[in-house]
Amino acid sequence: MGARDKLREHFLSNVGKVLTTQQLRKVAGVSEYGRRIRELRDEEGFQIKTHIDRADLKPGEYILEALDQMLVIARTISPQLRNEILERNGFTCQLCGAGPGDTDPFNPHRKVRLHIDHIIPISQGGTDDKDNLRVSCSACNQGKANLQPPSETALNIVAKIRKLSKSEQREIYEILKRKFETKP
Ligand SMILES: [Zn+2]
Repeated sequence: MGARDKLREHFLSNVGKVLTTQQLRKVAGVSEYGRRIRELRDEEGFQIKTHIDRADLKPGEYILEALDQMLVIARTISPQLRNEILERNGFTCQLCGAGPGDTDPFNPHRKVRLHIDHIIPISQGGTDDKDNLRVSCSACNQGKANLQPPSETALNIVAKIRKLSKSEQREIYEILKRKFETKP
């Protein structure tokens, strides 16, 4: 196993934990562990952060924040294909129904971002085939997916509603609100 593989394995089994230079040097067994870490980040898309990215980290500390390899996905999927999948899924996260500009349900100070996601991950033999791609939001991507994702019917209708004007959306909202707020 090469140094990069050893480091990848170590980061993957310590997601969300702060790892130090000493630890990583030992794991890699080589002095150029720094370069291998950069490769994991830049070539494989791992979200490995340092003190440059996060104020709470000290120099020499690294953390793999989450298990999403967005850079790699962004690189292997052409902008054309990306747009096609966004259109097909109606700019709607297929796991929770969020749309662009919606507030991140786990962080009210942030907006969700939409990504193109592999249904079967590449690491498990998934391909870039259209059938294996879907839109998902940053919150779902970080493994915070809803345990009960919306039904296909609901997702399709939400995608249609998103294309309507604000006032039409409000009409639908008012109708549903009336329905669900009426006491029996
Ligand atoms: Zn989502």
